[in-house]
Amino acid sequence: MAGWSRSSKSSSAIISAKMTSCAMTTPITAADRIGIDLGGTKIDAIVLSGEGSVRYEKRVATPKDYDAILEAIVGLVYEAQAHAGQGATIGIGAPGSASPRTGLWRNANILVCNGKPMSDDIERLLNRPIRMENDANCFALSEAHDGAGSGHAVVACFTIGTALGGGLVIDGKVRRGPNNEAAEFGHTPMPWPNESEWPLIPCFCGKNGCVEQYVSGTGLARDYRKMTGEDLKGPEIVAKASQGNGEAIAAIDRLADRLARLTAAIVNVIDPDIFVI
Ligand SMILES: [Zn+2]
Repeated sequence: MAGWSRSSKSSSAIISAKMTSCAMTTPITAADRIGIDLGGTKIDAIVLSGEGSVRYEKRVATPKDYDAILEAIVGLVYEAQAHAGQGATIGIGAPGSASPRTGLWRNANILVCNGKPMSDDIERLLNRPIRMENDANCFALSEAHDGAGSGHAVVACFTIGTALGGGLVIDGKVRRGPNNEAAEFGHTPMPWPNESEWPLIPCFCGKNGCVEQYVSGTGLARDYRKMTGEDLKGPEIVAKASQGNGEAIAAIDRLADRLARLTAAIVNVIDPDIFVI
């Protein structure tokens, strides 16, 4: 029986701490590390010392267009560099992944990033090398290495934010696959859909009924609106549920049931030793 655990780490810290080990050819050094976590709603920056202490943190809202997103990331890196030592490495985690064939970014819920040479563009603007990786892969590697999945051979992870990310670590290594698509759990079909899930919701990826459309902050807000007519954001629904509001608790319960069905489907294929959320 697979276990469950909940992460206690911040996403930008995970990315800055783990990007070096994501790049298997780069040795781990004691240099400072700059981490950027690009999300659908916010961009986080952090500077970690070689020993792992936090030197700097900043959060900004995610702009709407591609050039403005690049500008925000570059601005955060410049600010972070002022708090980091010489030779600090830069790691960026983002939803989606680079196509191994073209190098172009794809499958991000931040749609303006898709089809763009995002890593190359950021390197050009910064005039220095960076490492860029799927954000959920960073999370999974971190949790498998020294987090909630530590000591387990096969660690499956979910990042539930604006979207639903997935990561899979096997024997200490991120499983990316030849298409760089492994563990994109959010874009697998909603398993065993019930009446409340029909008609299947169209996903930005072009398919209908992807789990991400149900199990995410966006999905929670849509579900709550459908059932109550009230327009609230995911965190507001969670806050209402924690105050005992029945409609909000029911929405969280539906989300949990959908996530449970997704994990059941993953168990049927991979049977991980542990799931980390
Ligand atoms: Zn999809």
